[in-house]
Amino acid sequence: MSRMYIQMLSMFMFVSFLIGFATIAEAQNRLFFPNRIRNKTIIPSQPPKTVTMNEDAVKLKVLLDIYQTEAFELFKQSTYAEWDAMTTGKEETFKNSADAKLKWAEYHSDKEKYATIKDLRSKAVGLSEIDVRAAERMELLYAQNQLPPELLKKMLDMSSEIEKTFQNQRPKLDGQEYTNNDLLEMLEKEIDLVKRRKIWEALKQVGDEVDDQVIALAKVRNNAARQLGFKNYWEMQVVFQDYKPDELLAIFDELEKITAPIFAEMKKELDTELAAKFNIPADQLMPWHYDNPFFQQAPPSKEIDPNSFYKNKTKEEIIAIAVKYYKHLGLPYEEVLKRSDMFEREGKNQHAFSIDMDTLGDVRNLCNVKPTAEWMDTVLHEGGHGVYSLNCNRNLPFNLRDSAHIFTTEGIAMMFGTKARTPQWMIRFAGMNPQTVNSAAEALRKQRRREQLIFCRWTIVMLNFEKALYENPDADLKTLWWEMVTKYQLLKRPEGRNTGDWASKPHFVIAPVYYHNYMLGELFAAQLRQSLGKAFVNDDPKIGKILTEKVFAPGAKYDWPQFVKQATGQPLSPKAFSNELSQNH
Ligand SMILES: [Zn+2]
Repeated sequence: MSRMYIQMLSMFMFVSFLIGFATIAEAQNRLFFPNRIRNKTIIPSQPPKTVTMNEDAVKLKVLLDIYQTEAFELFKQSTYAEWDAMTTGKEETFKNSADAKLKWAEYHSDKEKYATIKDLRSKAVGLSEIDVRAAERMELLYAQNQLPPELLKKMLDMSSEIEKTFQNQRPKLDGQEYTNNDLLEMLEKEIDLVKRRKIWEALKQVGDEVDDQVIALAKVRNNAARQLGFKNYWEMQVVFQDYKPDELLAIFDELEKITAPIFAEMKKELDTELAAKFNIPADQLMPWHYDNPFFQQAPPSKEIDPNSFYKNKTKEEIIAIAVKYYKHLGLPYEEVLKRSDMFEREGKNQHAFSIDMDTLGDVRNLCNVKPTAEWMDTVLHEGGHGVYSLNCNRNLPFNLRDSAHIFTTEGIAMMFGTKARTPQWMIRFAGMNPQTVNSAAEALRKQRRREQLIFCRWTIVMLNFEKALYENPDADLKTLWWEMVTKYQLLKRPEGRNTGDWASKPHFVIAPVYYHNYMLGELFAAQLRQSLGKAFVNDDPKIGKILTEKVFAPGAKYDWPQFVKQATGQPLSPKAFSNELSQNH
């Protein structure tokens, strides 16, 4: 996914643990419980008892206050340097940005300070709920920066080396070199089955080139994780992202079970279409018949081309549509646009992201807008991140002025992005011809459902395979990969194929142990849609207010399980997501 969300702390891979403040918070609530009047007898009121902070709490509070000031300054240096680099592409700005990130990491690598914080947190009594949470998040940032610098450097060097191969490798096909994009385009159009197979195989060549290096990197990463007391790198990353491994696995297990029959049914229908297209029996369909080399996206619908709806707009109109929509909801997207950088330019980063510069109102989007459905989606997506950041309660201390979790802001962004292909929205906000849109409505809905299911099954492969990779890097990974692809995506392993196909996915190197966040974002979004009900479907302006109060304003004040429950009324689970898929059938 080319979209990035630069979140205050996720940029540095921070998130917090679940161990928490619930007990102290509850104790405080009990103390402040209001006096009751019964039987007209006024129970004499007692002066509210405040918990006196013990000596450790006082020390921790002093430390925390200094931290909020110092970390805030380092954070801003880093975001402004990053923005310079991303918008100019100049060599020295990249250097400044890397330096600022390093300063941030070094600040949190202080071993003595870390030990003190840990010790004080374990003994402190009487801190406010907010300070308890802020101290928890502070400790975690320190915990994540405790790896020896030489080991960090080794991991970084190894992954840069592999990234270079990804960037420079040109797959060969019949003796000629191509780029990845060339091949993807060819695959989309090619009808000849022998040629399709060759193109698909060319797209996988890089995997066989880098797989041994990725395994070596996985072993070094495991070694690092063990130094910090974790079983392996997968477990460490998951815990650092604020998940309990068992709970994360339980959600994915349930998701797998619930979606298996719906996916199988949908795939059967898709296979019938593809079999007709290629004029072969459905049981002879192979992975190269599905367009996307990983089958992580649905093949384009033969009935509709979403881009056809946007191709007559200008790039300025794409933004104007988003402005109109967010304004309708009362969300401050125009505020975000004030300092944003929305169109292509020489030297500028080619992707899209949202960045909160100072957590006090300077939120920016970077886009390279073109008149396509994909960019309409992306503009709404980054705008969603933007209004989330802007509406966070600014009275919270610095390190709580953040989203509740990476997946909660991704969920919001995806939820708004999807509007770009929603008939009712396209007519009302993008000013499209109702007749044209309505005649495509059924095809749009069907395609959306396919995308959701196909992406979901793919994330299940990614999660399970990556976990297995770090649990045993010496396992027969070539076979394991195809076993999972067969089991979860219902694709066939080409006979006799024994190559490092799994390693052609760059995420194992550049965004390790991250994919589940996208899927949990989908689950969160589905739960929100369920709780908003008709108001969301009908773009009722009140959803802006509800989201602001329940989702944006709390920032990172609560840990995510509590936050999701408060925001959606339910703990995070695959139920709402699977309900949508069943109802939308
Ligand atoms: Zn995003």
